[in-house]
Amino acid sequence: MNAPAAPSLSALENAAEFQPRHIGIDAFDEAHMLSVIGEASRRALIDSIVPRSIARSRGMDLPAPVTEAAALAELKAIASQNRLLKNFIGQGYYGTHTPGVILRNILENPAWYTAYTPYQAEISQGRMEALVNFQTMVCDLTAMPIANASMLDEATAAAEAMTLAKRSVKAKGNVFIVSGDCHPQTIEVIQTRAAPLGISVKVIRSGDEWLAAIAQDDYFAALNQYPGSSGWLADWQQSADLIHTKGAAFILAADLLALTLLKAPGEMGADIVVGTTQRFGMPMGAGGPHAAFMACRDDYKRSLPGRLVGVSVDVHGQPAYRLALQTREQHIRREKATSNICTAQVLPAVIASMYAVYHGPQGLTRIAQRVARLTAILAAGLKQLGLAPLHASAFDTLTVDLGSAAAAQAVLQRAQDAGINLRSLRGQCVGVSLDETTTRADLALLWQAFAPQAAQPSVEQLEASAASLIPASLARTSSFLTHPVFNTHHSETGMLRYIRALSDKDLALDRSMIPLGSCTMKLNATSEMIPITWPEFANVHPFAPAEQLQGYRQLDEQLRAWLCQATGYAGVSLQPNAGSQGEYAGLLAIKAYHAAQGQGHRTVCLIPSSAHGTNPASAQMVGMQVVVTKCDENGNVDMQDLQAKCEQHSQNLACVMITYPSTHGVFETQVKELCELVHRHGGRVYVDGANMNALVGVAAPGEFGGDVSHLNLHKTFCIPHGGGGPGVGPVCVVADLVPYLPGHATAGVTGGTGAVSAAPLGNAAVLPISWMYIRMMGAEGLTAATEAAILSANYISARLKDHYPTLYASANGHVAHECILDLRGLKESSGVMAEDVAKRLIDYGFHAPTLSFPVANTLMVEPTESETLAELDRFIDAMIAIREEVRQVENGTWPQDDNPLKNAPHTAPSLLTGDWAHPYTRETAAYPVASLRHTKYWSPVGRVDNVYGDRNLFCSCVPVSELA
Ligand SMILES: *Cc1c(COP(=O)(O)O)cnc(C)c1O
Repeated sequence: MNAPAAPSLSALENAAEFQPRHIGIDAFDEAHMLSVIGEASRRALIDSIVPRSIARSRGMDLPAPVTEAAALAELKAIASQNRLLKNFIGQGYYGTHTPGVILRNILENPAWYTAYTPYQAEISQGRMEALVNFQTMVCDLTAMPIANASMLDEATAAAEAMTLAKRSVKAKGNVFIVSGDCHPQTIEVIQTRAAPLGISVKVIRSGDEWLAAIAQDDYFAALNQYPGSSGWLADWQQSADLIHTKGAAFILAADLLALTLLKAPGEMGADIVVGTTQRFGMPMGAGGPHAAFMACRDDYKRSLPGRLVGVSVDVHGQPAYRLALQTREQHIRREKATSNICTAQVLPAVIASMYAVYHGPQGLTRIAQRVARLTAILAAGLKQLGLAPLHASAFDTLTVDLGSAAAAQAVLQRAQDAGINLRSLRGQCVGVSLDETTTRADLALLWQAFAPQAAQPSVEQLEASAASLIPASLARTSSFLTHPVFNTHHSETGMLRYIRALSDKDLALDRSMIPLGSCTMKLNATSEMIPITWPEFANVHPFAPAEQLQGYRQLDEQLRAWLCQATGYAGVSLQPNAGSQGEYAGLLAIKAYHAAQGQGHRTVCLIPSSAHGTNPASAQMVGMQVVVTKCDENGNVDMQDLQAKCEQHSQNLACVMITYPSTHGVFETQVKELCELVHRHGGRVYVDGANMNALVGVAAPGEFGGDVSHLNLHKTFCIPHGGGGPGVGPVCVVADLVPYLPGHATAGVTGGTGAVSAAPLGNAAVLPISWMYIRMMGAEGLTAATEAAILSANYISARLKDHYPTLYASANGHVAHECILDLRGLKESSGVMAEDVAKRLIDYGFHAPTLSFPVANTLMVEPTESETLAELDRFIDAMIAIREEVRQVENGTWPQDDNPLKNAPHTAPSLLTGDWAHPYTRETAAYPVASLRHTKYWSPVGRVDNVYGDRNLFCSCVPVSELA
C-alpha cells in the first residue's frame, strides 16, 4: 500500500495565512449569507452589484502575500536602512521620552487607538476627558482662554490661524506678515495656502524689517515664532500693541515646553497661538503623527477650526463631555465652513495630554529647566571656544555663525561622523536644539564637532558659571496646570489606573463592531501596528539628510506603487495627513493644471448635494466656486441636472467632485458617462476615495474616468482611527496631473505644487500599517476583502429589510459596502428618531452607525469585511429587538416620551434606584437580550444635552460645582 500523499510544503507554509485573520467570514458563513441575500455565489453577487462597465481591466500587480512573521521581517530590513543618528536639528521636531506607561497603555493599546471620533458622546467620555485635559494644558501654557482638541501639524495650524485671523479682524488689508524666523516648513505651507485665496505673504528677514512691516496699514495679521526657529527669544508685547492699533491680529507659533519657563503668549497680547505638542511624548516619526494645537481669544471661538470638546450635562444633571459648537464644522457649513479639517490628531493629543498629566507642572518645569540649563552650558562652552551663538537669549536652540559655508559644512560633517545631526541654516550657520533626551556626554560631542582642535570645555566647570539665557523680563510668573488632574497621577500605579479608568468608559473596536458608514472601521491588526514604534521608524527626524532616510524612501516608493495598483492612477503623494488634506492637494493639482493650460479662469467645482462636507470646504479653500448639483430619488447623481450645470458653466468648469460608490451606498451605473460628460466640458473628475473599501481589486477610479482621488489610509488601509486621528490621505492622480502633486522645498523635494503638510511624508510613522496590510493580503486577499465587505453589507440589508427598509439600492435591490437604514417613518408612528435608536444600541453594547448622514434621520451601516458572522448577527438581532421595542410605543404599551429608547442609554446608577417609575422593567432597560448578562457595557453617563453645552461653553477643566 502507498502511504497517503504528503501535503506540499508550500501549502503548509500558508503564505496567505493573514487573509482569514483579517476577513471575519469563512466559506461556510458565506454560503449562508448568500442564501439569505438570494444569490448563488459571491461572484454572482459582485457581478450583480458592480457595473460591468467599470470592472477592472486587469488584476492588481502586487507581490504575492507573505505571513505576518515574514512581512515583519521584510519591513524590518527596510526600516534598518534608516540610519539612526542623534538629532539636534530642532526646527519643530525634538527628541522626547515617551513614558513607558503611556507607550504601552495608550499608543500600543487598541482600547485607545481603535476608538472612533467621539460623535457618540456617551460612549466616548474617556477620550473626551483626555482631550479636555489637552485643551486645558494648551490654554494654561499659552495663557489663552480657549483651545481646540488638535490640529494636523504646526504648519497647517499656522495656515489655519491665518484664515481665522482673516475672518475675524477689522483690518481690511490683504497682506499676511510672516517672520523669517518661523520654521521654514511653516512658511512654505502658509505660502501654499495663501496663494489660492489671493492673500499676499510678506516674509520678513530682520527685526527692523519686522517693525517696519507691522507699522504699515496693508496687512490683516502677523505671525512670529516663540522661541524663534533660530532660538531667539523676544518679548512680543510691543509688536502686539502696534499690530492691534492697525486692527490686525497677532499670531504666535509657540513651543509648549518652553512656555513652562517663559512669559506666555496670552500675557503678551497674542490673539492666536499655534504649535506642536510633539515633544510631549510623541516620537519624531519622520514628521508625524503629532498633535498640533490652536488657541485663540474668546471672541474668535465660534470661528475656530477643528474640534472642540466641551462640558455639558446629561439627563441626570451630571457633567458630561461632548463635542461642542458642531455647527462651526464643515459637516454642517459645507462651502461656508471655516476649514476642511475633519480627521485630526486625537491619539497624539491624548498622548501629549497624558505626558502632562504624568509629569505635572513641576515635572514639566524640571524637564524644561534641564534643557535650558544644558543649553546655557553648551553656549558658555561655545563661547569659550570662540564661537559665541548669534543670540544672547535662548531656551533650547543656539545658532552659530561659522563665518563661511565651508566652515559650517565642516562642522555638520564632523557632527555626522560622531553620530549627530545638526541643522544647516542660512548657508554659513549651524543650529543646535537640545531636548529631554540630551545628556552631558552629548555636550562634549557637540563641542568636539564645533572645534575639535581646541581645548575642550567641561560641563562640570561651566555649570556653576553659565548664566541663564532666559531674560528676567521673559521669565514666566503665572502658574499653570493647577487642576487636580495634573497634580494627582504621578506614580506609575496611579497613572496606569487613570488611563485604564478612562479607556473603560469608552467603546472601541476591541469591544464590539463599529458599523460606521463612510468611515470603514475595520480590523487594525496587531502585526500592522508593531512596526510603528520600532526606533528605526520612530526616532527619525523629517529633515535629516536624505541619505539617512533610505528606509522611509523605500517604504514610500513601495507603498505608492501599490496604491497606484489599487486605484489605477499614475502617481501618488503620501504627504497629505488626512483625507481633507488629500482633497485639498488634489484640487490644487487640478487648479495648477488648468492654469498651465492657460485656463486659469476654470474655477467652478460641481458637487452633488450628497457629498461629504469636506468636499465643498476643500473647494472653497482652493478658491473654487462650489455649484451644488441634485440627486435623484434613488440617491444617484441627477445626470440631467449635472448636464445642465456642465453646459451652463462649460467655459469655467474646473471639476466635479463625486464619491464612488456614492455616499448613498450605491454603485451608480452611469459613472463612466458622468466622467465623459465632465471631460467633454474641459473639467476634471475628482473621485472622493473614502469608499475605496468597496472598490479595491474590483474597480479602479483611475481606470473608469477619475482624474484625482484621495484615499483614507485610516479607513480602507487599516490605519486605526485613533479616536479621530491620525490619518493619512494620499492624493492619487492620472499621468498628466503628476507634475502637480505636492512638493516640499524645505525637505529638498522640488517641483509640484507647494507643501501641504509640515513634513514631506506627512504622518510618515503610520505608513508601515498600510504597507503591512497590503503585503500580507496580496492582490487576491485585498479583492476578497472588498467582496466580503459588500457581501456583509448586503446580508445586513437583506436581514433587516422587513424591519428597517434600506433607503437606496440598485435596481436589483442590492447595495455596495454600506446601507442606509430608513428610520424616518418611525417618527410619525412612535416619535422615535434615529438618534433614539443610536442611543438604545449603546444599551445593547454597540457603537451606533453613522447618524443622519447623508440623509437626516437615517442610520448608515458599514460592517466591513473584518466582522464575523456571529457579530453581524448580534448587531442585526439587536436592531430587530429595538424595532420590537418601537412597536410597543406604536401600539401604546409605552408612552412616546417614556420608553427604553427615549431614556437610552441607561446608566447603572439610574437603574439601581429604589423608586423606579418607568413603564418598563429595569431588566428590559439593561438586559433586553440574554447575552448581555455575560458581557455588559455600561454607559458612564446618560443622554448628553448638546444644547445646554453650547449655550454654556466650557472647554477646559471646569469644577463640577460651576455646572450646577
Ligand atoms: C472621511 C471622509 C472624508 C474626509 O477624510 P478625513 O480623513 O476625515 O479628513 C472625505 N470624504 C468622505 C466621503 C469621507 O467619508
